[in-house]
Amino acid sequence: INDIYERKTRLSYYLYREARSVMPYGVSSNYRYWEPYPIYLVKGKGSRVWDVDGNEYIDFNMGFGVLEVGHSHPRIVEEVRRAVEDSTILGFEYEKSVELAKIICNRYNVDMVRFSSTGTEATMHAIRIARAYTKRKKIIKFEGHYHGSHDQLLINVNPMRLESRVPTSPGIPEETLSNTLVADWNDYEGFERLVRVHGNDVAAVIMEPVAMNMGLIPADLDFLKGVFDLARDYGFLVIFDEVKTGGKFYSGASGYYGLKPDLIILAKAIAGGLPLSVVAGRRKVMSVIGPEKVAHGGTFNANPLSVKASIFTLTELLTQNNMYYAYRLNSLLSKGYEDIADDLDIDLSVSMWGTSGTIYFAEKVPKNYKEFVRIDQKPWYVYFLNMLAHGIIPMADYDEQWTISIQHTEEDITRHLEVAQMVLKKLKED
Ligand code: PMP
Repeated sequence: INDIYERKTRLSYYLYREARSVMPYGVSSNYRYWEPYPIYLVKGKGSRVWDVDGNEYIDFNMGFGVLEVGHSHPRIVEEVRRAVEDSTILGFEYEKSVELAKIICNRYNVDMVRFSSTGTEATMHAIRIARAYTKRKKIIKFEGHYHGSHDQLLINVNPMRLESRVPTSPGIPEETLSNTLVADWNDYEGFERLVRVHGNDVAAVIMEPVAMNMGLIPADLDFLKGVFDLARDYGFLVIFDEVKTGGKFYSGASGYYGLKPDLIILAKAIAGGLPLSVVAGRRKVMSVIGPEKVAHGGTFNANPLSVKASIFTLTELLTQNNMYYAYRLNSLLSKGYEDIADDLDIDLSVSMWGTSGTIYFAEKVPKNYKEFVRIDQKPWYVYFLNMLAHGIIPMADYDEQWTISIQHTEEDITRHLEVAQMVLKKLKED
């Protein structure tokens, strides 16, 4: 356990003790807890956040990938402040949701959209839509891919349990998962075998096209093409869960790979820090939604604050130019970690895509979940606490990745690498 961390975060520790009596593990999301106790934040601005002890951190977690625009971007603050005066929620449809829908259709090459607030909701809706459209029940997901906190896809994903078909959480009835099939990421032969047996009962395959809940493992293009071909042959849909990828490359992973899935899901970064999610796709598929047709609802769906923030984010902030700026800084950070690994001669590999990257304490980047869970994560925790102790939030967990926002600077990257060099050197020596 890291002495500096404990010395610098006394108030977080006291708050944690208090929090535990009113919130399980003292947090509102399991992913915000770590040993020995998490820090509690009070404020964020640009690339920085501050905790209750007054420590300043350069933040690379960026709200688990939400804050591609950085914390409290002044233009978003202004936009939301004005929006609040015109109402935070109107109940009936908000005028500007139409404008936003068109922006998303253009940018992500989809025909129709429906809004909700979180990624979890949108993936849940997507699989319902796919089942209704195909009149089939089975869904194929990939091991290690995360699609939110609802029951139906919460299988074979962190916390790490290697045996196949293990629900990730107690409280999920086996029956709920009886129509969920699990395949290995980037393994075309395995996928084909599964499809040969079940293909005619499959409604959809859902995937994170760049897997970002086991670090960062992009799909091989050939693998993706194979999956699309099989989906066409067997009549099931392809769903891209772009909750993370949608904000980390200008037109998302579908734009990056030049593929058009039947449905995509967007969330996190698209509304500049406010809650907004989207299920979108081909007209004929999305047309199953409607009164007395497929259920889709949500009180906060397309609320004015999120819609206004999103229009502004997509048209003024996450522009091609600004995204290029962030890609470039991401390359610097990734390259910097590779240099450190060479310099110190340690087993550390780097994976990057768009505005994100991650490190693995392994000689090579894992190809799939099975390789990922074999990595010993003990060094990662030492690295993490030491990075925090020196004012850098490198990412949120060993299965996460950093996000470079349009408000990060080259100095932020330099500082990150200086601290990483020092921390990794010490880790090697101990
Ligand atoms: N899909 C993916 C790929 C995600 O990374 C996440 C969240 N990390 C979700 C879905 C769930 O989104 P939310 O937490 O907004 O419900």
